[in-house]
Amino acid sequence: MLAAVSKSFFYALSENKSLNKAAKKWGFRFGAGQVVAGVDIESAIRKVKELNDLGITATLDHLGEFVSSREEATESTDYCIKVLEAIAESGVKSTLSVKMTQLGLDIDQEFCFENMCRILETAKTHDLFVQIDMEDFKRCQITLDMVKRLRQTYDNVGTVIQGYLYRSEEDLDQLNGVVLRLVKGAYKEPAEVAFQEKSQVDDNYWKLIQKRLLEGTFTAIGSHDHNIINKVKAFAKEHHIPNDQFEFQMLYGFRTELQEQLVKEGYNMRVYIPFGTDWFGYFMRRLAERPQNVSFALKGLLSK
Ligand SMILES: Cc1cc2nc3c(=O)[nH]c(=O)nc-3n(C[C@H](O)[C@H](O)[C@H](O)COP(=O)(O)OP(=O)(O)OC[C@H]3O[C@@H](n4cnc5c(N)ncnc54)[C@H](O)[C@@H]3O)c2cc1C
Repeated sequence: MLAAVSKSFFYALSENKSLNKAAKKWGFRFGAGQVVAGVDIESAIRKVKELNDLGITATLDHLGEFVSSREEATESTDYCIKVLEAIAESGVKSTLSVKMTQLGLDIDQEFCFENMCRILETAKTHDLFVQIDMEDFKRCQITLDMVKRLRQTYDNVGTVIQGYLYRSEEDLDQLNGVVLRLVKGAYKEPAEVAFQEKSQVDDNYWKLIQKRLLEGTFTAIGSHDHNIINKVKAFAKEHHIPNDQFEFQMLYGFRTELQEQLVKEGYNMRVYIPFGTDWFGYFMRRLAERPQNVSFALKGLLSK
């Protein structure tokens, strides 16, 4: 009961526009610095290097979402291009992750498409890959349409499928050949479109993973769930799926020991590294999905 209340509370905070705006000026609070890798490109690249030294690759995310003006969307696009250039210049092993609403999806879809093309053009020049994060259900179809359209010109782009949505299995079937990250899903969605029980989400997530591993296109399993990870390892062995056909992905600051252990066992491990001043929505979603994370938020609060 308490967990359900705190979940809804943190989801509501994550969507609060005034708090998201105010938090940009506060600097990191409540322990957010443990899961967000600094505010600028330099700090983010430093973290990537540290992880690369441990045999872990990265995907950088310059935090931002739901922008409401063309100026902000253009600024975000320019910044993504800078991140790609910084990756190329520093020679670190990293891809880029972006959110469509950061690039103007809610303002004008054609404008967002053009912004995405600018990003992919730069990525292509440097032989880099861009993953489009999946946001809330309202934006799922348009994101998938955008990915399909972009892939007519670019093959260095992929996206994310969320295990909690009823529609995901059908979406998966239409995305053979596209590099995907499979996750459970991070937004609060209603019963009309998404499984509500954790066991149902886990079952559907596992079903998608098996289907995808057998299908053969490179797949990322984005999860901190050791049960899922162990099942993937056993399934891959049983079906002779080579380690270079999949990778595990985790968020920066979470289960670092497990990340390193997986590398030692010979698996590909990539860490999603968010950075920038727009940390609030991202951080509140992390608190919503795992009440235990609240304890380090409280520690951060007390240490202020
Ligand atoms: C790389 C990456 C990218 C993502 N991209 C997206 C995206 O584009 N769109 C989207 O909607 N969502 C995204 N997510 C978030 C995802 O959808 C889930 O909300 C989030 O990962 C929580 O689910 P989980 O599978 O990690 O495990 P959960 O279901 O949260 O946890 C399962 C079990 O794993 C163990 N566990 C989990 N976390 C920890 C921990 N920190 N320490 C110790 N034990 C732990 C616990 O035993 C827990 O009961 C992403 C996640 C990752 C890792």
